Amino acid sequence: MNHPEPLDIIEAAAPAARRSRQARVAWGSHVVTIGGDAPVRIQSMTNTDTVDAIGTAIQVKELAQAGSELVRITVNTPEAADAVPYIRDQLDRMGIAVPLVGDFHYNGHRLLTEHPAMAQALSKYRINPGNVGKGDKRDRQFAMMIEAAAKYDKVVRIGVNWGSLDQELLAELMDQNARRTPPVDAKQVMYQALIQSALTSAEYARELGLNPDNIIISCKVSGVQDLVSVYRALARRCDYALHLGLTEAGMGTKGTVASATALSILLQEGIGDTIRVSLTPQPGEARTQEVVVAAEILQSLGLRSFNPSVTACPGCGRTTSTTFQELAKQIDDFLRAQMPVWKAKYPGVETLKVAVMGCIVNGPGESKHADIGISLPGTGEAPAAPVFIDGEKALTLRGEHIATEFHKLVETYIERRYGQPA
Ligand code: SF4
Repeated sequence: MNHPEPLDIIEAAAPAARRSRQARVAWGSHVVTIGGDAPVRIQSMTNTDTVDAIGTAIQVKELAQAGSELVRITVNTPEAADAVPYIRDQLDRMGIAVPLVGDFHYNGHRLLTEHPAMAQALSKYRINPGNVGKGDKRDRQFAMMIEAAAKYDKVVRIGVNWGSLDQELLAELMDQNARRTPPVDAKQVMYQALIQSALTSAEYARELGLNPDNIIISCKVSGVQDLVSVYRALARRCDYALHLGLTEAGMGTKGTVASATALSILLQEGIGDTIRVSLTPQPGEARTQEVVVAAEILQSLGLRSFNPSVTACPGCGRTTSTTFQELAKQIDDFLRAQMPVWKAKYPGVETLKVAVMGCIVNGPGESKHADIGISLPGTGEAPAAPVFIDGEKALTLRGEHIATEFHKLVETYIERRYGQPA
């Protein structure tokens, strides 16, 4: 017990690097790079009727302000196509430069050729090879969309989804498999069909003249292990930038946990250049929740920093009051609310670490690891709350106004550490 073993070097975990091609999704002078050495990007999708141009523009603005770096909108009818330039115009007037992505199924070939203003107002097209047409129409209609992308120099995501997988390709692979002895598991065939659908479509797009750097691939499924299997294989077989997402992840905790689990495994392996968390909003829940979750996943993995982090203990029988829960929530809400202004005023503030702890057991230790932390008194402890700044005990708060005083200390710390000299 008193004789520690010699120090062993433990390899620090870190996300692996995968160098994919880099796509540039642009609106005017605002360019969002995807892949290569760019940070993993956050995407989201509106759930408004695109024909409602004002409602859609407002939701795009909310998603962008929450941190979405690209926002996808449905373009499903001629009326929706006509609304797209107005949506873009509204966003430009509001100073929101976020690139818009058009989501096309079934009639994208017609919409993209018959509505050139829409084709230009979008920065990226999402094409689902399973929904571009059947038989001999398939290649022709796919080609019409790719030609529009090449003409307007737009990035294309070839987005395969197992809910709308190319049925002709799947049937062909199933037949091939039936002739094998022994046949492979049906799931294997489905994985192959997803990947082949994406990669053969990408190959065809290149033959049609699309710059390979303007191609992003996704193969979305709704099972965590299936997603990991498919993307590992996809990453081995191509160097296109990859868009990751667990499709139809579900609601609330289930959708959040499933998305975080699947995306974290892949991102840790260096797989994935953009992500979307496909949460079904709970009644009354903001659409922006999917962006909040995506940002938390990237920040938890240490891939990006968006907001100051607040470490709080879960509480236990040593603290029966809810003071520390309330203080942790207040601080978290306060920091998030200030971020739109602070991002410009205090560069680097998103890396701030605050700790709010419930008692003396882990409170001082955890607070010392934070930039600024407070250890509140647990049940039966003296009514004093030591505050630690940069790892050192700085002062002790007492009395009724601990929360307000700690708030002020956090603000003063931010001003001192991140404020720009006048
Ligand atoms: S810091 Fe104290 S109150 Fe919080 S979980 Fe640990 S023992 Fe419980």
